[in-house]
Amino acid sequence: MRAGIAGAGLIGKLVAWQLTQHGWHVSLFDPDSKARSSAAFAAAGMLSPYAEIHADTKIFSLGLQGIAAWKNLLAQFSDQSWWQQRGSIVTAHTHDQNLMRDFIAQINNKIPYSTYLHLPNKKLTEYEPELTAKQGVFLREEAVIDSRKLLNLLPNANIHQQVISVKPHQIITTHQQYKFDWVFDCRGSGGGENFSDLRSVRGELIYLAAPEVTISRPIHLLHPRYQVYIVPRKHPIYLIGASEIEANDNSPISVRTCLELLSAAYSLHRGFAEARIIETITGLRPALADNLPRIIFNKGMVAINGLYRYGFLLAPIILHTITQALFHQEYSHEADLLKWEAYRDSSVNHIGTIATTA
Ligand SMILES: Cc1cc2nc3c(=O)[nH]c(=O)nc-3n(C[C@H](O)[C@H](O)[C@H](O)COP(=O)(O)OP(=O)(O)OC[C@H]3O[C@@H](n4cnc5c(N)ncnc54)[C@H](O)[C@@H]3O)c2cc1C
Repeated sequence: MRAGIAGAGLIGKLVAWQLTQHGWHVSLFDPDSKARSSAAFAAAGMLSPYAEIHADTKIFSLGLQGIAAWKNLLAQFSDQSWWQQRGSIVTAHTHDQNLMRDFIAQINNKIPYSTYLHLPNKKLTEYEPELTAKQGVFLREEAVIDSRKLLNLLPNANIHQQVISVKPHQIITTHQQYKFDWVFDCRGSGGGENFSDLRSVRGELIYLAAPEVTISRPIHLLHPRYQVYIVPRKHPIYLIGASEIEANDNSPISVRTCLELLSAAYSLHRGFAEARIIETITGLRPALADNLPRIIFNKGMVAINGLYRYGFLLAPIILHTITQALFHQEYSHEADLLKWEAYRDSSVNHIGTIATTA
């Protein structure tokens, strides 16, 4: 089988990797050979279904499945250094304890059998001794992926052309028209052709080298104005993120975001004062009207978009849903939760029966 994939960001690369493993011949289109303009390259890579409790409850249940599915995929990589599951912490400063109470109330309200651990009265120091905040919640199931390491292990684009159109069986670029058995539209923020309600949500993030800081797991700081997190990579590197701005604008980070993110980081650990800013990055999260992912399945074409803040969290579920349909002609139960659209033409008898030949 011959596949053409438009977009070599997170989903495009993962689909290319899976199809290649199944013996397909894959052409991966992206003008950017190293995926540096993808949201995936900017992403912190946190798998945080609890910390994202404000989102639709589907994100929580699919997110927990996503973490389990990543653990199954791990075995297929000889280098697993991109994966870490040590839980994460949600905390708030003393004057924002109402936010902590609200956060716990939301979890209790939405998730009957949650496994979070409340850390009152300085118990937080047993987990992260260097933080200035002393109370919090430990979310033991949460994990984090070193997004750039993972992207490096997945296939790179092999056709460096801008895709103008993705239609069943065909990809048209600025250079020529290509025919395939199946095509996959994974253009993220560039995929408006097949998703009329697509919008971009700008996210800015800062990389610091901070030798005076030792934090071992992602920290989410509850704040009345913005969401801030600190994600440790290989010591002494830390990511401080991320803004959330409704704008299709990937220009460099703003002064305001720098001030907010860096002062929040400094408020959690004084050692960030002497850190060095080694990189700032802006990415565009591809989002749909309901902020949920959507898969459009047609004979000869699959289009995936709307991963928004949850691309890494949900990617293995998306992958599973697609491969179940392609290789086993099965409509997986996750498809009910994902926004899944199948066009009913002569080759798609009902939503669960999808022809795999052109
Ligand atoms: C700052 C930030 C932090 C994030 N943190 C997290 C996190 O902690 N956890 C999490 O789960 N998610 C996170 N995300 C979200 C996650 O990165 C996205 O949901 C995910 O990358 C979307 O995957 P995608 O493949 O659809 O799009 P992308 O990863 O953006 O890939 C799209 C690709 O398509 C290419 N493309 C676009 N147009 C064309 C065209 N016309 N022709 C050819 N190629 C094209 C682009 O160059 C790009 O390589 C974050 C995002 C940002 C911006």
